Amino acid sequence: MSLTSGEVAALAGQATGFVPATTDVHIAPHTDDDPYRWGSASWQVRFVPEGGGSVSLVVSADGSAAEALARMLDQLSEYGPEQGALWGQAIPACPGHRHAARVEVDGGEVVLVCPDTQEPMLRVQPVGAEPPSR
Ligand SMILES: [Zn+2]
Repeated sequence: MSLTSGEVAALAGQATGFVPATTDVHIAPHTDDDPYRWGSASWQVRFVPEGGGSVSLVVSADGSAAEALARMLDQLSEYGPEQGALWGQAIPACPGHRHAARVEVDGGEVVLVCPDTQEPMLRVQPVGAEPPSR
């Protein structure tokens, strides 16, 4: 199973839901692909939150939807504008807390884990993914 550009776009849209500002997403084929990975596609995904700054990462078609979403959220946690609407905001926010949650993958889901209590705070089903079989 591999991701399509449409799925990557949908996951990126889902990731922007964790950014507390209107966020544009720009997706382009990644032109700097590793030559040892023939046949696999990847995309450069760039998030541009309103208020300045941007975060970008490369998402490979090889991974699962959950892995791709987790990497996006993890990268968004690096977003730290010196100023602007998102200054001081934790991304992704730990529900009920002021800090950011740790992003983990559990099967087909992304789990936001509280770094203080180590408790899973929120389970996120990637868009377009099959419901997990338990
Ligand atoms: Zn917490």
